[in-house]
Amino acid sequence: MESLKVLLDNNQKWAAEQVAADPEFFARLAKQQAPEYLWIGCSDSRVPANQITGLAPGEVFVHRNIANVVVQTDMNMLSVVQFAVDVLKVKHIIVCGHYGCGGVKAALDNQRHGLIDNWLRHIKTTARVNEEELSQLEGTAKIDRLCELNVLANACNVSRTTIVEDAWSRGQQVDIHSWIYRLDTGLISAAGKAIRGPGA
Ligand SMILES: [Zn+2]
Repeated sequence: MESLKVLLDNNQKWAAEQVAADPEFFARLAKQQAPEYLWIGCSDSRVPANQITGLAPGEVFVHRNIANVVVQTDMNMLSVVQFAVDVLKVKHIIVCGHYGCGGVKAALDNQRHGLIDNWLRHIKTTARVNEEELSQLEGTAKIDRLCELNVLANACNVSRTTIVEDAWSRGQQVDIHSWIYRLDTGLISAAGKAIRGPGA
């Protein structure tokens, strides 16, 4: 309980600081959210969307899972994307992976990890599709390249959801970005070009 008390104390301090800086901050946010970005990232505790992009509460809608995987049969992810695109009308969907991703590493090591192997199957498929390129690499370089390929594959999967296809067909602007974060520098870079709708 002691460790949780620290969190609650931190929360009180944080809320007081926000109000001191902007007395209307919470009253305004309580009324509505209007984020321009949907973030699909890894659950890794070292990659918190708001903090690494300097965004405040209310500025980014977030979905995270192990290794930022986008599967078109995942109702959780689809519901997030639908709400973000159809209701919040976000302009950008950012799929952000990170180098040294444990999920990607596990997908390459040919060992059993339990139930999660079914989730990692999607990354194994990406590895198999890119086998020729990956077979030229070893160790960290191989893992990191698969981290990039995983981001690119999942950004592509976002673009192939019915939600994004329908948004584009009615002329709604939604750009999809493939980003990758480096744990040892704290810096984000693009893993590939943005995917834009036909009208963009
Ligand atoms: Zn990860």
